[in-house]
Parts: sequence; structure tokens; C-alpha cells
Amino acid sequence: MSKPIVAIVGRPNVGKSTLFNKLINEKRSIVEDTPGVTRDRVYADCEWLKYKFTLIDTGGLEPYVSDPILKQMQEQTQIAIDTADVILFIVDIKTGITDTDMHVAHMLRRSKKKVLVIVNKYDVMSKKDLDIYEFYSLGLGDPIPVSSGQGLGLGDMLDEVVALFVNYDDMIDDNYIKVAIIGKPNVGKSSLLNKIIGEYRSIVSDASGTTRDAVDSLYQKNGRNYVFIDTAGIRHRSKTMRKIEKYAILRTIAAIKRADLCILLIDALEGISAQDVRIAGLAHENGKGIIIAVNKWDAIEKDTHTMNEFLKDVEGNFAYMSYSYKVFISAKTGQRINKLLETIDIVFDNVIKRITTGLLNEVLIDAMATSEPPVHKGRVLKIYYITQVSVKPPTFVLFVNDLKLLHFSYKRYIENRLRLAFGFKGTPIHLIIRMKTKD
Ligand code: GDP
Ligand code: GDP
Repeated sequence: MSKPIVAIVGRPNVGKSTLFNKLINEKRSIVEDTPGVTRDRVYADCEWLKYKFTLIDTGGLEPYVSDPILKQMQEQTQIAIDTADVILFIVDIKTGITDTDMHVAHMLRRSKKKVLVIVNKYDVMSKKDLDIYEFYSLGLGDPIPVSSGQGLGLGDMLDEVVALFVNYDDMIDDNYIKVAIIGKPNVGKSSLLNKIIGEYRSIVSDASGTTRDAVDSLYQKNGRNYVFIDTAGIRHRSKTMRKIEKYAILRTIAAIKRADLCILLIDALEGISAQDVRIAGLAHENGKGIIIAVNKWDAIEKDTHTMNEFLKDVEGNFAYMSYSYKVFISAKTGQRINKLLETIDIVFDNVIKRITTGLLNEVLIDAMATSEPPVHKGRVLKIYYITQVSVKPPTFVLFVNDLKLLHFSYKRYIENRLRLAFGFKGTPIHLIIRMKTKD
């Protein structure tokens, strides 16, 4: 299920990060052993009632202090418009409406996005002075008073937020394979998308009726439906590299969150960079299938060893996703694009693969017989049973007698045995360990 994205915008000091921290409750879903993953507090997974969403704080983007506030605000607001399903526009009851607020409101009104005006710091007003009516003049509907500092009004606010979610998966139903083409600027993302939906054209149309119509491409082949989520479509006219990168990363995160699987493009001419590894880490930590595609292969001078050498380099740099497929392509000439499309199908089938509890436990028993569970201070690890609880990615729960006894290495051993038995190539798999008292 792809999660909606909620973005926070507002002037400095209105309380954006206070609100962000209150809402995420310090529970951030970062996988610790992923190298190169961004640690900036810019996005986090949230939950309200039965709804899950991704929260983005556009204020966390470290704008250049030398830029005038208004310019920073325009940039942040544009990011929110480009990436979010719902935008929380934070204003401050202490300062009232400023010119900058009016400017942001104007951008938001024109964007036709779903926006909620959040009037923060209402705790500073006495009940009788509480007047939020001036905020109607922003022209964005009913203002919602909250105090992020004291955690007041946030439940009502979240009710309004989730009421605005359209179930994207209801429109682009689960029969669609959602693919994000990711990679650093100029690696060939738009070229690849154009090649796929251009030359390999069957039925192409925009996903109309959704808020995403500007950036999604639908595609059909052999009776299967695909949505390509474009991360390159909107160009940011920023002069500084750092800003472009920040912006690209946010767009990439938004695309990855919605995707079932990602194609990570690497530039064969430039080799593997730290940025490639960092972007791959985002797909991995979000539990998405991944295909590593080395692009511009046409432009490389090759002999019989070139591909193997490059492959070794890829395997070395992406060791933590050894499960991924690697394909050498040219978006320009179309070389191996068919193979890439076939690989998408294989990976998707693995991302949604379900294994019966019976089969899983046969493999588990076999694995434990081959390599006995570890002993620690005289206590033996017992694994009672294993069962699959979800897909996208395949997620399993292992019930054990003592969490401390299951070392990382044995956990990885079990994971490898599952992969050996059932494939799962191209997708991360998650193992959750639960304690079960003897019965
Ligand atoms: P940001 O720049 O928009 O991220 O704003 P911050 O979250 O850093 O908050 C700016 C200031 O406003 C800090 O001093 C906060 O303590 C204060 N603040 C934030 N929310 C509230 C609130 O609900 N009530 C009051 N009284 N102060 C708040
Ligand atoms: P994006 O920023 O990732 O969307 O990259 P683009 O698709 O705009 O491509 C950037 C540049 O790389 C353009 O000049 C493309 O013509 C070139 N390019 C893209 N794919 C290939 C390829 O497979 N081979 C070669 N030789 N050039 C490519």
C-alpha cells in the first residue's frame, strides 16, 4: 500500500519542527544497518487511527540563510506542492498574518492541492481573546487552532488530515505494478521513461482523476498494468547543487514510498558514486524491490571483461542488497530494455509472494538441523515456528524462546535459507522476532 504524503510548510519560528516532533513521537522507522542513508529529520512515518502516512517537514531542508525569507518560502512551498497529497500550512497566532503568509497562501491556492491552515501557539491566548477568524482571509478554508508545544488540538487536526486522504490504491488498484525510476540527476531517468512508454508504446495515458496526473505514466504490456512514477519530470530551477540535491532527494523519497519496486539507474560513464549508494539505501530501508540498472552502456568502450568488472564493482558497493538484480542497459539505444521489463515482472512477483506456513516451517526445521541454533550461557535458542504476515515486502514472524539468543548472524542465516528455498530475488525480506512463552 502506498502511503499518502503530508507536508508541513510555514515561516521560520511558527512551530513547524515542534509540530513535526510531536506528530512523529520520536518513533522513526530507520533501519540501522543501512549505510549512506540520510539521517536528516526531514521525513518520518506516522500513524493516526487506521491511517498511515509520511510526514515531511519542508523547514528541515536547511535553506541558505543568505536567501531572503520569501525566497526560501517559495522553494519550500513548491516542494510541498510537488510532493504532497495534503499540505499543512502553519501560521502563528502570536504574529498574525504576515506578507510572507499571504504570498504562500497565494501559491497554495493556485496549486489546487488539499491544504489545511493550522493556527499554532493558541495556548498563548486567553480563551476570550482567541480569535482565529483573521486566518480565514488566507482563502484556504477553516483555520484549525492547535498548540504544538502543549500538544493541544492535534487529534482534531489529524482527523481533518486523514479525511482528506483519497485512497490512491483504490484508483490505481493493486493490479498495477508501481515502479519508481530513481537515480541522481542526468543519469537517464527521463530517457528511460520515454523509451519505455514511447517506443515500446502500447497503451499510454495519464492517470487522470488523481492528484498525480502530471507525473505518472500508465503502461500496459502482456495484460499487465504498470504505473511509472516519474521523479525527473519537474525540473527545479535552482542554481546551487546542494539545493537541487535536497530537492531531488525529497522527490525521490516521495516516489519510493509509493512504489512497489524501484529501478536504480547508475551512470556507466561515471561509475558508482556515494549518492547512488545513498539513493539505493532509501529504497532498501523502505522495503521496496530493487533493480540496479547500469545505464549508458552504449557509451562504454568494452572488451570481454568490462561487464564482469563493473558487476563486481556494483556488488561491492551494494553488498547489503545482494538480492537485487543487475541489468546493463542503454536508454538511448534501447539495449536490454526488454530484459529490464521482464525483470520488473519477476521482481514484482517476488515482492507479493506468499509462502504457506507449512512450507516455511519445513524449511525452518531443515535449516536448524543443518546448522544448530546458538547457545548462550548454557541457554539454547528455540525457534518454535515461522509464519508470513504480509507482502510488499514479504514479512515473516519468527517465534522464539528468548530474543537475546537470536544473534544477527543466525537471523541472517535463516533469511538466506528462506531465500535459497523460495527465491525472493529482487526484494528485501523482513524478519520480525517475537517472544513466545512456553505452552
Ligand atoms: P520552526 O522554525 O517553524 O520549525 O519553529 P520551531 O518548532 O523551532 O518553534 C519556534 C518557537 O516557537 C520555539 O521557541 C517553540 O518553542 C515555539 N513554539 C512552537 N510551538 C508552540 C506552541 O504551540 N505554543 C507556544 N507558546 N510556543 C510554541
Ligand atoms: P535524468 O536527469 O536522470 O532524467 O537524465 P536524462 O534522461 O535527462 O539524461 C541525461 C543525459 O544523458 C541526456 O543528455 C541523455 O541524452 C543522456 N543519456 C541518457 N541515457 C543515455 C544512454 O543510455 N546512453 C547515452 N550515451 N546517453 C544517455
